Amino acid sequence: MSNLYLVSFGEIALKGENRPFFERILIQRIKQALSNFENVSIRKTHGRIYCFADGPKEEVIGRLKKVFGIVSISPAYPCELDMDSIKAAALSAIKEMDYNGKTFKVETRRPNKSFPLKSPDVSREVGAHILKNLKGIKVDVHHPDIEVNVEIREKGFVYYERMPGPGGLPLGCNGKAVLLLSGGIDSPVAGYMIMKRGVEIEPVYFHSFPFTSDRAKEKVIDLCRVLAAYSGGMRLHVVNFTDVLKQLGTKGTDELLTILMRRMMVRISQEIAARVGAKALVTGESIGQVASQTMEALNATNEVAKIPIFRPVIGFDKVEIMDMAKKIGTYDISIEPYADCCTVFVPEHPLTRPEIDAVHEAEEKFDIEELTKTGLEDVEVIEVV
Ligand code: ATP
Ligand code: MG
Repeated sequence: MSNLYLVSFGEIALKGENRPFFERILIQRIKQALSNFENVSIRKTHGRIYCFADGPKEEVIGRLKKVFGIVSISPAYPCELDMDSIKAAALSAIKEMDYNGKTFKVETRRPNKSFPLKSPDVSREVGAHILKNLKGIKVDVHHPDIEVNVEIREKGFVYYERMPGPGGLPLGCNGKAVLLLSGGIDSPVAGYMIMKRGVEIEPVYFHSFPFTSDRAKEKVIDLCRVLAAYSGGMRLHVVNFTDVLKQLGTKGTDELLTILMRRMMVRISQEIAARVGAKALVTGESIGQVASQTMEALNATNEVAKIPIFRPVIGFDKVEIMDMAKKIGTYDISIEPYADCCTVFVPEHPLTRPEIDAVHEAEEKFDIEELTKTGLEDVEVIEVV
């Protein structure tokens, strides 16, 4: 028989009328995450999802830990609905643990009210059975080392572990956005945060070969792969940005170059967003972090945006972003030393507080529409899984 995992989901249980919608997406996402395993079946009851799957437990759990919307995962032991079976299941479950010298308690839930014994009676009997059969274990109802959970539903279930899932909302329940993904530390974290809120992403990377090496592009693909583990795959759009950059650099607009470049990125990204049905852009900007991230600079960037730009890490400081990057596994890739176009083209004296009139004046030297088209001419789409 397949192994069973009880999955609990938090926030989505609160969403009133939307609840069936969220649950349906969550179940689809779980199916997708477990698609490599045999004999997968998924069932929903009130407030819980039962996942049956063959395969090594650590691997199955590893997959479930990357499904947004899941709050906790508990490997569980199903049994018949009679006290002898429940006791036997509880005993064999606890025997799998390193229980010697530990304390425990039994906690029972009984959604199935047709079961003759009440929850406290079930807990007491199961506890007594464990004490009778195992040495070196004691009861502590207040601060137990091990909590043996019994659930009386249409069957009996026993579990003792509650492993944290990523939380958040199931991916896709809040639409889609285009993530401006550089090779840096911040934008992958921004992508993770928005995905956690149920937003699917299609990343866009502006590549400026030969100013930036193809190794820089590989790095972005690697980052994308880390994020794709939470979504089952995503499409990375690699924009050949070289011509746009070259042109921007020719008209003596040095000190405004970063801001002009950023405005071009937004213009091109929102065209891509329109093509793929994305309703917002996402960046890794954090206020005040660098010259291009002052209020004035962010405003100058926003001015050309026709759809919202979300900046999930806007109020984080660098250390907080780095900690999160380490947690989600993007940090080590991000610190690989391959320059992106922004580091290559940083003007010597960037304007920290660009006057919007100066920006407009600088852009008058270019045919912006043409330049946007140029950027869209050569976009490579890479399926990252
Ligand atoms: P990151 O660590 O994400 O690179 P950063 O602190 O280096 O951010 P900037 O280089 O000023 O900041 O970039 C700000 C944001 O602009 C990035 O977070 C990213 O969303 C976007 N961005 C910058 N360069 C690129 C690029 N080459 N391709 C795609 N997006 C980019
Ligand atoms: Mg950067």
